[in-house]
Amino acid sequence: MHSFIPPERFFPYLTWTEVQAMPDKANVVLVQPLGAIEQHGPHLPLIVDAAIGEAVLGKALQQLEASVPAYALPPLYYGKSNEHWHFPGTITLSAQTLLATISEIAESVYRAGFRKLVLMNSHGGQPQVLEIAARDLHVKYEDFSIFPLFVWQAPHIAKELLSPQELKLGIHAGDAETSLMLAILPNQIRMEKAIAEYPPEQPGSLLSIEGKLPFAWTTRDLSQSGVIGDPTTASAEKGDRLLESLAAGWVQVIRDVYAFQPPQQR
Ligand SMILES: [Zn+2]
Repeated sequence: MHSFIPPERFFPYLTWTEVQAMPDKANVVLVQPLGAIEQHGPHLPLIVDAAIGEAVLGKALQQLEASVPAYALPPLYYGKSNEHWHFPGTITLSAQTLLATISEIAESVYRAGFRKLVLMNSHGGQPQVLEIAARDLHVKYEDFSIFPLFVWQAPHIAKELLSPQELKLGIHAGDAETSLMLAILPNQIRMEKAIAEYPPEQPGSLLSIEGKLPFAWTTRDLSQSGVIGDPTTASAEKGDRLLESLAAGWVQVIRDVYAFQPPQQR
């Protein structure tokens, strides 16, 4: 049941009496992984985003010193994936449902006495929903610290491993995600089906897919295969190094959340 998470760090394995008796609950770090079940081209399974989040968190929690109390909540596999919904197999929640789900999870842990909740998101299509949830929860519960974070915002070494074109345009099922999956779940990858597909660019324009001045898009606007990037250069070795670096980055994130003290309240 605990997948990549060390069992002693898996929140659902606790009893209610253990939760009740837990010391220093205001500083205990709870991490809610948020993934997606969505198409990732013909070569990767639907579970990619959820798998990457769980693998990074699991590795980070293995390395985290025992003196830092941190627990993983069960992953939310489903996310807001409607940009992919022309591709069958994609399962999406609406923004409203995701917002309500995050809020109700957060209120449950707040009621139990916890005051630090990390929303660890591994799907590029939903950071905005998490940010709205976090702000609204903090407005409602002023002593509740919520951290709406994206897996890829922690320090990592993708710049050393990926081509400049891939760093810029390889946003979905490309080299990074495919390499990670070769390291995490190698038996679920169909490398013989991997093909590269880059989206058309807007030459000379300030507007781009995910730049400073973006436009709204669905994946079908940009790609026939569902791939946005080049998975053909992916390797398990690259994936291992990327995973190691992301996990090390997340150890630091969890330590920082544990040490975090909210700005002075008046
Ligand atoms: Zn993905």
